[in-house]
Order: sequence, then C-alpha cells, then structure tokens
Amino acid sequence: MATIFSKIAAGEIPSYKVAEDDRYFAFLDINPMAKGHTLVIPKHEVNYMFDLDEEEYAGLWAFARKVAMALEQAVPCKRIGVAVLGMEVPHCHIHLVPLQTEKDMRFGNKLSLPAEEMQAIAAAIAAKM
Ligand code: AMP
Repeated sequence: MATIFSKIAAGEIPSYKVAEDDRYFAFLDINPMAKGHTLVIPKHEVNYMFDLDEEEYAGLWAFARKVAMALEQAVPCKRIGVAVLGMEVPHCHIHLVPLQTEKDMRFGNKLSLPAEEMQAIAAAIAAKM
C-alpha cells in the first residue's frame, strides 16, 4: 500500500508543495516545528533512509540542498537545521527547519498555521528555487 507521502508526491493527497523534479519532492510539514519546516522525499517509496541505493541517496541530499538554499532565502533564519527520524511515516524524508535558535528544532514543538500562511510560505520558497 502506498504511503501517505507517495500519495502526496503523486498529487492524490493535497500538500503545500515547494519543489519537485522527476525523482524527488519537497513540501511543507503539516505541523511545522518552525515556519518553513519542509520535508524532502524520494518519490520512490523506501522506508529507511539508509536502504536507498548510493546514487538515490546522494541525489536526495543534493535535492535537499537546493531546497535548503531556497528556504533560507525565503524564510528569515540563522540557518537551516536538518534531521532524519522516520518514526511516524514509513517513507524516508529529510526535515529542513529554519532556525532562529536551537529551540526551534524541538520535535514536540508542533505549530498549526492557517492555510493561507502555509500557502504563502510554500510559494515564497518555490519562488527561490
Ligand atoms: P517522522 O516520521 O518522525 O520524521 O515525522 C513525520 C513528519 O511528517 C511529522 O513532522 C508530521 O508532522 C509530518 N506529516 C505527517 N503527515 C503529513 C502530511 N499529510 N503532510 C505534511 N506533513 C505531514
């Protein structure tokens, strides 16, 4: 059965899309730790990051780097924090979190922003890609 992230990448479930190419997809985390918290996934469904083959693994991180560069231009922050957990959704993903302070990278810290604001943030990041 397809994961929720596969359905997002396929456009079957809505998301605040930030970027995509033929192999990778980036979208806003629905409950961000900080404004602009973005998830980057391979479209190919693999649960555990280190089960990706070397080439796809490298490609995922190269795509995440492009997204991070756009994110730091679009969202005021000191730097982009990076994390990989995968405890909730069994489809590997990189968390990119704009940080003002280390406290912004707290996994219990879930914001709920209005849809219009999420849309505006996603569009601002996409415009810097
Ligand atoms: P983890 O698997 O522990 O890395 O966490 C999964 C992350 O996915 C959490 O930060 C959730 O807020 C996020 N998430 C779960 N469902 C969605 C969704 N439909 N759209 C965007 N983000 C989601």
